[in-house]
Amino acid sequence: MVTTLDEKLESAYQEVLRRNPGEIEFHQAVREVLETLGPVLAKYPEFAEHKIIQRVCEPERQIIFRVPWQDDQGRVQINRGFRVEFNSALGPYKGGLRFHPSVYLGIIKFLGFEQIFKNALTGLPIGGGKGGSDFDPKGKSDSEIMRFCQSFMTELYRHLGEYTDVPAGDIGVGGRELGYLFGQYKRITNRYESGVLTGKGLSWGGSRVRTEATGYGTIFFADEMLKARGDRLEGKTCVVSGSGNVAIYAIEKATALGAKVIACSDSNGVIVDHDGLDLALIKQIKEVERRRISVYAQEKPSATYLENGNIWTIPCQIALPCATQNELNGKDAEMLVKNGCIAVAEGANMPTTPEGVRIFQDAGLAYGPAKAANAGGVATSALEMQQNASRDSWSFEYTEQRLHQIMIDIHRDCHETAAEFGAPGNYVVGANITGFVKVARSMLAMGLI
Ligand code: NAP
Repeated sequence: MVTTLDEKLESAYQEVLRRNPGEIEFHQAVREVLETLGPVLAKYPEFAEHKIIQRVCEPERQIIFRVPWQDDQGRVQINRGFRVEFNSALGPYKGGLRFHPSVYLGIIKFLGFEQIFKNALTGLPIGGGKGGSDFDPKGKSDSEIMRFCQSFMTELYRHLGEYTDVPAGDIGVGGRELGYLFGQYKRITNRYESGVLTGKGLSWGGSRVRTEATGYGTIFFADEMLKARGDRLEGKTCVVSGSGNVAIYAIEKATALGAKVIACSDSNGVIVDHDGLDLALIKQIKEVERRRISVYAQEKPSATYLENGNIWTIPCQIALPCATQNELNGKDAEMLVKNGCIAVAEGANMPTTPEGVRIFQDAGLAYGPAKAANAGGVATSALEMQQNASRDSWSFEYTEQRLHQIMIDIHRDCHETAAEFGAPGNYVVGANITGFVKVARSMLAMGLI
């Protein structure tokens, strides 16, 4: 079932389809936002009059570049780099870099589009952007990763700056990659400009809690959704997809709040451990040894490994998709509902297909969309920028407290806005409208930009 759009929104959507052929993830992300904006245009006709929707769907700037590098055998390799600077009405472009073979312009544009509204929700002064490459870091040596990152930054640096565009990590880009990228930026510009990248190491301008922030924030958001229903996370059984940065710290915080996480995954399979996942072992396998999650089952007798398994078939009360886009479809959603799932909070970006979202909403689950539920990562990036600007370094406790309060505030804003616009409990409506209105008002105030 596809929700119909009102006339003005439908024509804006058709224009997006026509101007961006083949970019299906971007179309999906735009449609999801437009489906919720009908009541906004009715309340604020000036947004339609000034073509804010059409403007917001068109990136301010799109950069595509060649990334040549040499592998360990001395062979020349060529990848494609992207940076989409989508919207700077609220602050410098801000959003991560993704290195994954599936990356093309449509993926970067969907992520950049989502980022605009997510960043607005944090209440911090950051615009929206995203970038990356079709480079696959899997199986590459550290030297190859370094040469690739240096070549990538040799082109990208001219578009960056602490007041212009501030990248961070995403899939395939963690502390190691950010180190090489920052080193090359510093070398080319001859400036120690800490605020140009976030997710930096603690000894060179990084913020405490940034590594943990997206996963922790997703759990804080899930807990708020449950509290709004007179319930809480403590004692619940959870399933977390993925075993990367977001998944690991979602597992950590869920466990700390008294939930039991029984499964996680990677793109090859799923591990299930009904004793509750051993996080120290997962960190050792994924963060230190950079191996596959199947190793967990070899080390733990209580665990089973399901090669090519579907994690959403495992009964749980809370589902936390933390891997990638469209990893949870309509059938998976039906299965989760049937098995007694009561809440879904998205650590990954757009992990649930539109059909899956409708099934969750029709079944009355607490469904926290990515824009709201995973905003803790970028919020803490903005806190890193604050620390860099004041040449300060905050404690773990203080930074986590700031993150926690931001997630509480995002939940409250989404909850209140959803009720105001006649859709109580609908966090998709709440998140899209709260984020969009902030951006639209700022764009109007700045004239024709
Ligand atoms: P990451 O550290 O690279 O981890 C990604 C994880 O997802 C890996 O375990 C990966 O498994 C798994 N994965 C990827 N594609 C998969 C697929 N098709 N099926 C099953 N598993 C798959 O990346 P991350 O930073 O955790 O990002 C995960 C998600 O969170 C992404 O959607 C990202 O955009 C979103 N996000 C991240 C942040 C952040 O601060 N890092 C902030 C907001 C949102 P393999 O190793 O097998 O590929």
